Amino acid sequence: MSAPETSPSRHADTADPHDRLFIAGAGIGGLTAALCLAREGRAVTVLERAESLAPVGSGLQLSPNAMHVLRGLGLEEELRRHAVAPEAIRILSARSGKDLARIPLGAHAEARYGAPYLVIHRGNLQETLLRAARACPDITLRLGADLRDARQSPDGVTLDIETAHGKDHLSGAALIGADGVWSVTRRRIMGLRQAVFSGRTAYRAVIPIDTIPEEWRKVTGLWLGADAHVVHYPLSGGRQFNIVALVKEDWHEETWSAPAARADLLARFEGWPAACRTLLEQPESWLKWALCGMDPGMSWINGRFALLGDAAHAMLPFAAQGAAMSIEDGAAIARNLARAEDPVKAFHAYQSERQDRAERVLRLARSNDRVYHLGGPLALARDAVMRSLPPERLLARFDWLYGWRPPE
Ligand SMILES: Cc1cc2nc3c(=O)[nH]c(=O)nc-3n(C[C@H](O)[C@H](O)[C@H](O)COP(=O)(O)OP(=O)(O)OC[C@H]3O[C@@H](n4cnc5c(N)ncnc54)[C@H](O)[C@@H]3O)c2cc1C
Repeated sequence: MSAPETSPSRHADTADPHDRLFIAGAGIGGLTAALCLAREGRAVTVLERAESLAPVGSGLQLSPNAMHVLRGLGLEEELRRHAVAPEAIRILSARSGKDLARIPLGAHAEARYGAPYLVIHRGNLQETLLRAARACPDITLRLGADLRDARQSPDGVTLDIETAHGKDHLSGAALIGADGVWSVTRRRIMGLRQAVFSGRTAYRAVIPIDTIPEEWRKVTGLWLGADAHVVHYPLSGGRQFNIVALVKEDWHEETWSAPAARADLLARFEGWPAACRTLLEQPESWLKWALCGMDPGMSWINGRFALLGDAAHAMLPFAAQGAAMSIEDGAAIARNLARAEDPVKAFHAYQSERQDRAERVLRLARSNDRVYHLGGPLALARDAVMRSLPPERLLARFDWLYGWRPPE
């Protein structure tokens, strides 16, 4: 997915500098925001630190709420080609190895929410967004452009960026920080507290699906154990298999892809059911990243600066909504900027529209952290409740989340 440093654009480069909007970060939320802004006729420049956007990362869940936005951008068909719509989420006990619940997805979720529930490789999602952005004359993409600092005045913003050729300064109307969990916009430019390490680490691997038993190839699996859990699902049109093992670990580096020791990982899952261990034994190599989260209640905006996605509300991945929330944010910030002349007002409206919902999801992820990792009698009580609930009711608990649609 390598690219020239700059994709020149007819409109964005010639737009009045006073109108120019900047987005820091060509990740999932930044690219979605750029595409939504361009659809509203706004010129936007996306600054991305990486020199090239290689398909790094592993699987992500694209629930129907996010798919409604991506459908609106005309990307559904391409995404479906790369993704899988799992038939169900199968929840299992790591203590007994038995099934606890089966939440129906697939055609059932699509009929209920009007859009599919997909799982996809982050690289395929980013590539799809990137291709659309490159085809869009209102979007200028600058790779290898590292945002270092920014200042604002009543009239606009000035950005300091660093490239392979040296320092550069850019002027425009506003800056959207979509620069992820370790956001420079958040920390340095807006002076906000950064995401805090949760004490948990995610080990991840993506492997060909051929060696995986048939029973796991069409579902999302979720194994719950005291202090650890395992999630797996098919990817890439059913050709690959994604496994993530989440454990307690006192290790914290700011990277998405640290090499991880396979033997250490397997040692942590000794005593787990054979069916789960067999899956964990398949990958030869693993990568890991430290899980960080933010507290709710902090502002995402400051005058002509605004945050979206992980930069605004980094959350533990236990609700599988990090990408979906950044996609929802991208659509919302673009809509509000299109409605108001003044970016400061637009950012206020954006935050009012989004914050309660994103923080409700953030709290759900925290609550899942507790519920997933229960041990002893509390785990038995949880399992009994899960077994007793009809599948339809288990899914209905998420109607507020998956049933969301972008406002008209
Ligand atoms: C390389 C990578 C791999 C990932 N792998 C996974 C994964 O396997 N599983 C998972 O659940 N989540 C993964 N994520 C995180 C996931 O994409 C996000 O949690 C979620 O999609 C929210 O997206 P976002 O747009 O807020 O941030 P992200 O998708 O993280 O995008 C942030 C972007 O900002 C860029 N950036 C950062 N600082 C600057 C700067 N100073 N100037 C310019 N650009 C900057 C980054 O390079 C990145 O492209 C990964 C993120 C990255 C960047």
